[in-house]
Amino acid sequence: MNMFRGMRSALIVGAGVAGLTAAAALARRGWRVEIIEAGRDRATTGWGLCLTGPSLRALHALGLADACLAEGYGMSVITHVNVDGAVTDQVELPRLIGARRPAMAGIARPELHRILFEEAERCGVVVHHGVTVTSIAPQGDLVDVRLSDGTERRVAVLVGADGIRSSVRDLLGFEAPVDYLGQMVWRALVPRPDWATGIHQFAGTVHTAGLVPISGSRAYVFLTENGVPPNALPDTELASRLAELLTVFPGRVEELRPLVSACDSVVRRPVKTTFLTGAWHRGNCVVIGDAAHAPAPQMASGAALAIEDGLVLAEELECHSTVERGVAAFVARRAPRCRSLVQTSVRISGLEQAQRHGEAYPLVSACHRQMAAPA
Ligand SMILES: Cc1cc2nc3c(=O)[nH]c(=O)nc-3n(C[C@H](O)[C@H](O)[C@H](O)COP(=O)(O)OP(=O)(O)OC[C@H]3O[C@@H](n4cnc5c(N)ncnc54)[C@H](O)[C@@H]3O)c2cc1C
Repeated sequence: MNMFRGMRSALIVGAGVAGLTAAAALARRGWRVEIIEAGRDRATTGWGLCLTGPSLRALHALGLADACLAEGYGMSVITHVNVDGAVTDQVELPRLIGARRPAMAGIARPELHRILFEEAERCGVVVHHGVTVTSIAPQGDLVDVRLSDGTERRVAVLVGADGIRSSVRDLLGFEAPVDYLGQMVWRALVPRPDWATGIHQFAGTVHTAGLVPISGSRAYVFLTENGVPPNALPDTELASRLAELLTVFPGRVEELRPLVSACDSVVRRPVKTTFLTGAWHRGNCVVIGDAAHAPAPQMASGAALAIEDGLVLAEELECHSTVERGVAAFVARRAPRCRSLVQTSVRISGLEQAQRHGEAYPLVSACHRQMAAPA
């Protein structure tokens, strides 16, 4: 019997992938959960992402994998194409939720967000938009939290799931350097070509490009631009600039260029990483998701780690006699896996920038195999 069973209340800061998953996992175990989200509404940015095997496995544990597969596009193969446009290899990824389901899924971010949001609300989670945290004060076995709307909460656990620029991390005094890796990542939403039934990755002489289906009708083109400062470009120039960067790629990328030129919204983001080498928790407070460990997107696994965090946190809180022991056990269980993934993603980014694709691809495959081990 947990000592804190009578006061199982959680406040989660951030309604992203980590926060919504943790909220649903805790609420299913009988916790009273509130989320505060700085954004004023549910809108989420970004075109799409890839849910790798570990993501799908964690979503399956929440009963949500099939909904994601239905809204997204299931696939199992990554095709690597060299600088001349020839296929060098095809990597089949492990199917972690059974042989009849695909190894991974591409999905539009707003669809994933909607599925997680609806599940959290179905479980009774209350979400307050346009609100953030202003102070955190541990009070014995509880935590007092002041919010930007002038209200206060006294809860058994405070979870910082507020992303790579986490305020909770700062308020708890944890130092996490956020590193820019010298790459900008482009994404453009295009109609899915018939041949795109899996992920394609195209090695370039300077940059790297690819295509990920996210539904029967849509896919996103990505390009990783090397050796540039993390500066902003005017939105109106993004589509033409991306199409220009794609001109050096032969073969199937030539088909994608006109689709990109016609695309009315393209996003360009800096590749940044962080990893909390010290504590992730203080007393009954803990940070999860990108707030604790943000890998580079090359492994397409940041959301996987965030979703796993939510599940594992709920499991560890359930099987320890105090919240403090539960969060400590959570961090001990998660840190080695997350550190390894972040470090590997940084190495892959370096190999990509050095045009050493032949070394990067085996590293990606080995890391996917490693991530197939249970969370
Ligand atoms: C270009 C790019 C491509 C990627 N592609 C993939 C991919 O294909 N597959 C994959 O698995 N991962 C991918 N990732 C990584 C993935 O997006 C992140 O790891 C994941 O979104 C982390 O989830 P999170 O909930 O921890 O943080 P976030 O998604 O950043 O959510 C944090 C939430 O907290 C809110 N917030 C922030 N500050 C506060 C505050 N002070 N108070 C209250 N709320 C606050 C934010 O508004 C947001 O809603 C990619 C990342 C990038 C940059």
